[in-house]
Amino acid sequence: MKWLAQFRKKSPWILHYNAGSCNGCDIEILAALSPRFDLERFGIVNTGNPKQTDIFLVTGPVTFHSRERLVELYSQIPEPKVVVAVGACTSTGGVFRGMYNVEDGIDRYIPVDVYVPGCAASPQLIIDGIVQALSILEKKNKAIEKPFRLFGGIKRIGKKISRLTMAKRIGEEK
Ligand code: SF4
Repeated sequence: MKWLAQFRKKSPWILHYNAGSCNGCDIEILAALSPRFDLERFGIVNTGNPKQTDIFLVTGPVTFHSRERLVELYSQIPEPKVVVAVGACTSTGGVFRGMYNVEDGIDRYIPVDVYVPGCAASPQLIIDGIVQALSILEKKNKAIEKPFRLFGGIKRIGKKISRLTMAKRIGEEK
């Protein structure tokens, strides 16, 4: 299963979700994806489907209206997944902290792996955060691969046993 970690690292798909931001960080994400900063050089594809996502890119604080959708999207993303909180308000609530309709940072509802600072977060910082997310994704992939290797080992032992029992049966028949 080594290929699994390699293709995920070389072509990670991202899902961008605005949980209630002012759109400042969303524009910076689009700038990072544009040819000037060329985030796509890492093989990144901005997908709209959580079921094909490796990196969940969230902007904005959690609002009462967005919290359910945020948790639902997170739960639909298959493991291994990495969550990147882009911008100060995604990490702590930022300028929206304490407002009647805001529930601070997204880590109140979902686990966050990388926090990208800034209001707005610059494309350079977003790229830096995604590069960190790639190495976390690789580590998580390897942790998931271990049981697969063990399972392969058990299968091999199983094959050996069945060959032995077959040889015994053949011997008995003779
Ligand atoms: S961090 Fe600042 S620029 Fe980014 S979404 Fe929040 S308020 Fe807007």
